[in-house]
Amino acid sequence: METLPNCPKCNSEYTYEDGNMLVCPECAHEWSLIAEAEQVEEAKVVKDANGSILKDGDAVTVIKDLKVKGSSSTLKIGTKVKSIRLVDGDHDIDCKIDGFGPMKLKSEFVKKA
Ligand SMILES: [Zn+2]
Repeated sequence: METLPNCPKCNSEYTYEDGNMLVCPECAHEWSLIAEAEQVEEAKVVKDANGSILKDGDAVTVIKDLKVKGSSSTLKIGTKVKSIRLVDGDHDIDCKIDGFGPMKLKSEFVKKA
């Protein structure tokens, strides 16, 4: 038999499942475990070109020559980028590149170094 969590209100161990809800027969508290699971899935995950999950502080390598907006220079393939910061938006990586300064990249054009 699967173990259900105790009631979060009165700590009764006689909780039972009713559809997607858990119910406590002692204090009549009802709650859902589904809501918690959904919140975890909604957390934004940024992946590199290979599907590896990126996180703040990671170092990445550029895998494609990228034109730098507002300048005539090109960010060359193989450029190393240290200490990325993940942000919301179309360009989901915020970083600073030697010789270029602060800029934003798309995660699909980098791979974890
Ligand atoms: Zn209870």
